[in-house]
Amino acid sequence: MRDLGDLGENGIIQLFSGAELHEPVIKGIGDDCAVIRGAKDDYILLTTDMMVEGIHFEKATCPAYEIGWKSLAVNLSDIAAMGGQPEACLLAISLPGSLQQTWLVEFRDGWMAAANRYGCQVIGGDTCGSSSGIAISVTVYGRSAGSKVLWRFGASDGDDVWVSGAPGMSALGLLVLQESKENKDVAGKAAVAKHLTPEPQLELGRFLAVESLASSCIDTSDGIATDLGHICAASHLGAIIEEELFPLPDVPPSISADPTELALYGGEDYDLLFTAPNKNRRRLEEFGNLHRIGIITSDVRGVVLLNRSGEQMKIRGEGFRHFKSF
Ligand code: ADP
Ligand code: MG
Repeated sequence: MRDLGDLGENGIIQLFSGAELHEPVIKGIGDDCAVIRGAKDDYILLTTDMMVEGIHFEKATCPAYEIGWKSLAVNLSDIAAMGGQPEACLLAISLPGSLQQTWLVEFRDGWMAAANRYGCQVIGGDTCGSSSGIAISVTVYGRSAGSKVLWRFGASDGDDVWVSGAPGMSALGLLVLQESKENKDVAGKAAVAKHLTPEPQLELGRFLAVESLASSCIDTSDGIATDLGHICAASHLGAIIEEELFPLPDVPPSISADPTELALYGGEDYDLLFTAPNKNRRRLEEFGNLHRIGIITSDVRGVVLLNRSGEQMKIRGEGFRHFKSF
């Protein structure tokens, strides 16, 4: 019997796709949030994401406070990717009875810190026991900036590809955390902070939406290769990105990792990856910490990397594969 490893995450999602949708639902499966028509001239954005012990985190390397922060932040990042503002969240947790109370109190503190920081009201959830590890499921709803929503589709031939932050930083942070000794390197510490306490790019998403600067947008949860692949697929176009233009992470000497590989395939940065017409370059540069890394084109299929030697390489569209070992 074939197992879920053969089906993969996309295959599983496909099993639940295809149902006909009707008003007030505008978009179901396939973007960072589901989109529902609001009562005024705006849209409600809905998203849910899980964090599971042993899959997304290990208690040994990820403190409870940071798990609390991150479990909400990764959901807020999907609201940012649609250009919205979060309004409220629900928290469902499954916990082993043997877990120390201090763990839960610290988790709560991190969760509340993120909720307060980004103005997201906590309005409910669910609690139950667990016969294995900790599982956290968060749901957030938010609102679009008026009628303006950033979608994964909409990129046009010749648009620039932009990314915020430094792609690959979070994956580097995970490698630093997994090192047996404590890493005292400044770059290593910054990468760990990026991995444990990502900052959803709500201000940037709102800016892109309100000023109609981006033609498409996604948040970087699975690495540029996969995430840009989603924009390309949704927009029916390809992309060429240039290694030379990447703001590559600063890898400490104790870690052996290729920065370009980290940027392409490392996940969990929770920055925004978006496309924009060339005429918007100046306005985007003014915002700060945004990097133009390539172009959208009909000349190639999928995502192609132009490396430092000037060779074009088709890149694998795979970030973290959830079902590979089950
Ligand atoms: P993101 O990384 O932005 O959270 P995902 O890769 O998790 O997005 O999901 C991609 C799309 O598939 C989203 O629109 C999401 O709502 C949908 N999706 C994921 N899992 C399921 C599921 N089990 N049933 C229905 N839709 C799903
Ligand atoms: Mg997303």
